[in-house]
Amino acid sequence: MSTALDLLRDVRTYVFDYDGTLVRGAVPIAGAVETIRRLQDAGRRVGVVTNNSYLDSAELSQRLEQQGFAIPPVAVHTAVSASADAALSRAGRGRVLCAGSAGLERALRERGLHVVSEDPDVVVAGMDRALSFERLSNAVRAVLRGAYFIGVNLDRLFIDTNQIGPGGGALVTAIAYAAGREPDLIVGKPSGVLLTSALHGLNSESTTSCMVGDNPETDMSAARAVGMLALLVRTGVATTRTGQRTAAAAPPDLAIDSVADLPAAAGLIF
Ligand SMILES: [Mg+2]
Repeated sequence: MSTALDLLRDVRTYVFDYDGTLVRGAVPIAGAVETIRRLQDAGRRVGVVTNNSYLDSAELSQRLEQQGFAIPPVAVHTAVSASADAALSRAGRGRVLCAGSAGLERALRERGLHVVSEDPDVVVAGMDRALSFERLSNAVRAVLRGAYFIGVNLDRLFIDTNQIGPGGGALVTAIAYAAGREPDLIVGKPSGVLLTSALHGLNSESTTSCMVGDNPETDMSAARAVGMLALLVRTGVATTRTGQRTAAAAPPDLAIDSVADLPAAAGLIF
């Protein structure tokens, strides 16, 4: 049987999930900052990806810096930024309907797109705390009329330190169900779109890269989708009661209690 060291020996690039993996709430998980530094000192490339529906890559990069992580902006990829990039490439007339957060709407505007409520080229749907029946209806009508339909993620639940609520996927799925049509593109994990952009940004191959995350449904499945090693940590949703797992949950190649244990598992502590 392969040991952790066997599996991790050839890994040159580590891509970390953010919530539940590097931080819990706004607080870095004990040992996470040191793990990142140790991997970087050992010459490993390090990136961060998140399905988070309200932060763009620049905002997350800034937050990571405030929390003590030295990760360059180019190595930070959020589903918000990747969704806005995808909308830009699909919006022929530049008209986009945003059924998502203020952060997503800002990312769309920053790319020069017109955020409209009717007759869009593209509908982008994600976590929306200000969801109204009107906005939902506009999105459904646009998808029925054939707008390109992008889902930021398929997260079932939104989990933070104080509460559990429906995730971005609950809204994406509501629109898809009403319109009778699946999204044309899902950006966040378990889709491989976000990880593929992250690997591209890190100039790395999937075969020598490892995805580190706390969620079997999203992180581990996405790792498998792009052919990365899948490493589960037990500091996030894997330890939370979140209802019955869907079929999307994928088993990890390897599991450790926390990112704090990664340098030892990878043989980087001498
Ligand atoms: Mg997570």
